[in-house]
Amino acid sequence: MERYFNVADIFGENVFNDTVMQERLPKKTYQKLKQTISEGKELDLETADVIAHEMKEWAIEKGATHYTHWFQPLTGITAEKHDSFISAPLPSGKVLMSFSGKELIKGEPDASSFPSGGLRATFEARGYTAWDPTSPAFVRQDAAGATLCIPTAFCSYTGEALDQKTPLLRSMEILSEQAVRLLRLFGNTTSQRVTPSVGAEQEYFLIDREMYLARKDLMYTGRTLFGAMPPKGQEMDDHYFGSIPERIEAYMRDVNIELWKLGVSSKTQHNEVAPAQHELAPIYAQCNVAVDHNQIIMETLRKVANRHGLQCLLHEKPFSGVNGSGKHNNWSLVTDDGINLFEPGKSPHENIQFLLVLCLVLKAVDRHADLLRESASDVGNDQRLGGNEAPPVIISVYLGEQLEDVLTQLISTGTATKSKKGEKLATGVKTLPDFRKDATDRNRTSPFAFTGNKFEFRMPGSQDSVGEPNVVLNTIMAEALSEACDELEKAKDFDSAVHDMIKKLATEHQRIVFNGNGYGEEWIAEAEKRGLPSINSLVEAIPALTTDATVSMFEKFGVFSKVELESRAEIEYEQYIKSINIEARTMIDMASKQIIPAVISYATELGLSIGTIADACPEADVSTQKELLVKVSNYLREAKDALITLKETNEKAYTMKASSCEKANFYHSDVVKAMEDLRRPVDALEMIVDKEAWPMPSYGDMIFEV
Ligand code: ADP
Ligand code: MG
Repeated sequence: MERYFNVADIFGENVFNDTVMQERLPKKTYQKLKQTISEGKELDLETADVIAHEMKEWAIEKGATHYTHWFQPLTGITAEKHDSFISAPLPSGKVLMSFSGKELIKGEPDASSFPSGGLRATFEARGYTAWDPTSPAFVRQDAAGATLCIPTAFCSYTGEALDQKTPLLRSMEILSEQAVRLLRLFGNTTSQRVTPSVGAEQEYFLIDREMYLARKDLMYTGRTLFGAMPPKGQEMDDHYFGSIPERIEAYMRDVNIELWKLGVSSKTQHNEVAPAQHELAPIYAQCNVAVDHNQIIMETLRKVANRHGLQCLLHEKPFSGVNGSGKHNNWSLVTDDGINLFEPGKSPHENIQFLLVLCLVLKAVDRHADLLRESASDVGNDQRLGGNEAPPVIISVYLGEQLEDVLTQLISTGTATKSKKGEKLATGVKTLPDFRKDATDRNRTSPFAFTGNKFEFRMPGSQDSVGEPNVVLNTIMAEALSEACDELEKAKDFDSAVHDMIKKLATEHQRIVFNGNGYGEEWIAEAEKRGLPSINSLVEAIPALTTDATVSMFEKFGVFSKVELESRAEIEYEQYIKSINIEARTMIDMASKQIIPAVISYATELGLSIGTIADACPEADVSTQKELLVKVSNYLREAKDALITLKETNEKAYTMKASSCEKANFYHSDVVKAMEDLRRPVDALEMIVDKEAWPMPSYGDMIFEV
């Protein structure tokens, strides 16, 4: 890879972006496509044919031999089916390269192998992918060749959404409609659309690939199922923002180059809190593009790592006892003429529109806290949320000192008359300039924090798509906006109606605001007093998908039908069952084939050496060795018993005749517990058994030696 280059030259070079379209497409075609993109107008087949042809020519110049409809089924990762551009051989024996408008617009992958949660019987396998022209096509080049990737939405024969993208696009539409309605009431006649902007910060771990390959748990489940903490953990806090080692830097550089070529504006990178943990943040983009880009980021992080002899771990909690990884979803609402609805301005207390929008966010989050929590749940995140570093499991909103003060004024007197200002920050060093600090400090413990002109939802898991959290955010906000507009449009005196509404909302939803330490025990008790839901796991979160409040909201706005929601709940239960079953089986395999035999050999050797010493020198004191042997044997016994219990429990779960919901709950309560019971003695053994005898790399090997 080129060492020195100009980023501007390579940025977006593999993207069929606006510049390429302007250059390549006939003017009329370009204009029609732009209308489709900006106004959602349907594209006629003739225009699509022209676009497809130009897209193909461009892709072939980039070395592409195939094209694929790139989509996001409910597996959390992307899927693709590759077709080559070649047409049927001509009489001359040669082939032409062809790609029609129809092939661009619509694909028909066999849908039966993707999760549908009972939406479709397997004999009704038809599924369609439909081009999303608002997310640009791109050519992915790698060692395997080059492919034209066309971002698409994926739905069933009868039109039900089978992916992340379809509901996301629906939610963006309705949010825009409702937000524009509100803007009109405030006298804005120019903005035509309101689009959510999203910047998803991605956390990940990097370890040596050899070590990864030596651990079946990492290979099969993405996380370590056994492993004791090294003597040095992250207590020194010396990794966060620490200087980046050369090997990692070379990796990040390659990742950036790949991403830039694909038009992903990778911007920030730094070491995270835990050893071997890092973060990558792109510049925010339109919501659906950001969701696509996050998938590209995850793919790229994985792929490039292998080239560097590294393994990228995207699991939320690869190492127990070490900080987990999340995805901070930064979200704001911006008009097509550049107004951010979450921008408070210098004196928020006078910014009535902002205050109303803010209170509507509070209402939306308060009312649908359970659903928001559900949207951030996946199997891996169960290991992370509620730990001491990740956001707590309780949803609350952090507003910061300044806004909380404005809110308090509103609630107590009905009007806010002042906003706290940031003071001068005196560093005490003459040569450093004094600067004005922000009126509000940051809060790292809140799951949903206002950070200046956006909200940062910090709960989503690192390996999950951010599709669902954004569908939920967009829809709950659309609902709150719509209800406000219904009322305000009828009001005789708009100003006083808005005023009353702000006060009422602030008072009613004050309970969701929490500026304190979200990690403290006191908060759990306080949240309970306030009646905020505390949902500890994925299986407890799933029911939020099908409550009356959820169903009626999604149906009202046409984002999900009841059937689609039920199918999603079903898929999540099934995924939970499958994942825990794989984890349990992996533990059984490792314990019985690797760990227990290794410990038996170690114990045997220990016993033999005690015998040898006693024979050679009867007066030698072998009590230390004997104590160790007793300890090892006891833990071994405990591990063996736990292994048997785990086998039986998992078998019982696997063969259980019950609904997915019941089954998943059994896995959660019984199998997970049996797994923990096996892990405990094994981790204790790892601490006392000779390192040479342990059959796999330790935490210390993996996270301190990258
Ligand atoms: P942090 O506040 O977490 O330290 P940044 O301010 O750099 O970090 O922003 C983190 C992410 O938020 C980036 O992806 C950034 O592009 C995105 N972001 C910044 N402003 C907005 C906005 N108005 N709307 C959505 N995302 C934003
Ligand atoms: Mg952040």
